[in-house]
Amino acid sequence: MKSKLFLSSMSTIAGLYGLLILFLIGIFTALQIELQWLLIVSIIFLAVQFLIAPYITDFIMRVLYKARFDATMPDYVTEFVKQVCKEHNMKYPKMGYIDDGNPNAFTYGRTKNDARIVVTRGLFDLLTPEEVKAVVAHEIGHAVHYDMFFMTVAQIVPLVLRWIYEITVRGSSNSDNNKLALFGFVAFILHIIAQYVILWFSRIRELYADEFAVRVTKNPNAMGNALVKIGYGLVATDEVIEDLPVDELISQIMILSEEAGTKLKEKNLRKLEIVELRIMLADLKKTPKVDISSVATLGIFDSKTAKNLALAKCCSSDELETDKIKRAARWDLWNPWAKWFEVHSTHPRISKRLQSITKMSSQFNQQPFIVFDEPKNQNYAFNFLFEVFIMIFPLLIILGSIGAFIATIDSPGEGYFEFIIGIGLLLMGVAYVLKLRRGYPNYNYIETNVANLLGEVNVSHITSIPVILKGTFIGRGSPGFIFSEDFVLRDETGIIFINYNQPLSIMNFFFGLFKAKRYLDKEVIVKGWYRRGPIPYLELYEMHVDNQTKKIYTFGFKKVLTSIFFVAGFILTFLGAMMLF
Ligand SMILES: [Zn+2]
Repeated sequence: MKSKLFLSSMSTIAGLYGLLILFLIGIFTALQIELQWLLIVSIIFLAVQFLIAPYITDFIMRVLYKARFDATMPDYVTEFVKQVCKEHNMKYPKMGYIDDGNPNAFTYGRTKNDARIVVTRGLFDLLTPEEVKAVVAHEIGHAVHYDMFFMTVAQIVPLVLRWIYEITVRGSSNSDNNKLALFGFVAFILHIIAQYVILWFSRIRELYADEFAVRVTKNPNAMGNALVKIGYGLVATDEVIEDLPVDELISQIMILSEEAGTKLKEKNLRKLEIVELRIMLADLKKTPKVDISSVATLGIFDSKTAKNLALAKCCSSDELETDKIKRAARWDLWNPWAKWFEVHSTHPRISKRLQSITKMSSQFNQQPFIVFDEPKNQNYAFNFLFEVFIMIFPLLIILGSIGAFIATIDSPGEGYFEFIIGIGLLLMGVAYVLKLRRGYPNYNYIETNVANLLGEVNVSHITSIPVILKGTFIGRGSPGFIFSEDFVLRDETGIIFINYNQPLSIMNFFFGLFKAKRYLDKEVIVKGWYRRGPIPYLELYEMHVDNQTKKIYTFGFKKVLTSIFFVAGFILTFLGAMMLF
């Protein structure tokens, strides 16, 4: 399997570079300009960047994401990483930790032996130890397969093509004008093609990293569950620890911790808050061998965290229900937008990854993780085409107006321009009305939960469902990122991305930097529009926290904009028509 990956890597890289070199030979022979010097400088610049990139990323991680590289990981993680690295002849990676409830993990670095693996607190909050191991193994898989290296090397090709495009477009003042413009155009097209090739290349590597994780953990179903939890946001619910009285909590903690090899004094346990006891018990139940001291350094005992975990109940020891997973995957399998987003994405659809994991289940004596056998309940193609039309309608209007200008540039009648712009604005108004009706349908907000929403197929970034959700903001949309204005909400059935988006990006910036933190780990009621593209998310309209309501003005802003299009369009069309006729 590994050699297959190596072969596909080499042939993709060779193909990309072949494309580039052929194109360069063409340019050099045709133009005989000193473009080669520019290229040499660019490549040196890229090489330097490649050498120092991990250090820059380390710095960004520390400063902007508050990542810590000295945090103690739970023992089961450390032991597991040690063992896998030993088996694959790899140095123990630098492990980073971000104290944010949004579950995530990623890798960067240049080669196998200077890999960095960063995990967030949310991973430990929502996943079982077996699932955490699978996620970490997936990241190690990227390092073992030299993915960071291959991706960086591959990305040079579209970068260089892009530069050639920029240079040829800017440098088109000499006699080679036409030739340059032509090369610029070709470079631009090739640059787009190369980017799609790289995205495809990346998706293949993701599947191989999943496969690696399954092989080293020998547990396909853990990988599958982890993907469902992180990718779809579906979370299993199990017994409610919060309902237990203090004495019961303490006695259960003492029994379980003794079994795990740690003796705790009842006197000390009595000093803890009830929420802390709940977390402790929840944690003991999901990790039989957990070392409580190392968990504490991970921040799981922070009062803030404790509060949110207690609210959210313990989550992870139960199996996810197959029916719920099937429902959550419907959108992936049936809505044409899923394929559209996949082609533009570095990762394959979750459903695809689950299918490839399921193929391995029998090799490890497990039940097939999931078999998607539901028949498609309706045809989604018409809806999709209509949504594509809504998406490109404004562009068509702009192109149409430009066309109308060019057609009459020699002999425009008086009032003609006003008339064209007026009609264009009126059509823009129509385009916006269509967009608003689809994207912000009506005012009947349904109170629901995450698991229910995941089963909806007729949603996209264009079409939405107005909903109300109740839960806790467990983390930032981009985990740990100090400028992130978005959140992740958790209710009793799952987690979902909450998109905070004011009409002016400066408002998002200030909210992210100064205010978002206050909302973390708080109980919230959010009102907004549920969408999917490709991940499920809610576009926020209102959020109620601490008896206060915060409003987002984007919808209002879009309505005002639509009215402006109509009013300005009407006035200009009228004036133009008066002059013309
Ligand atoms: Zn990956």
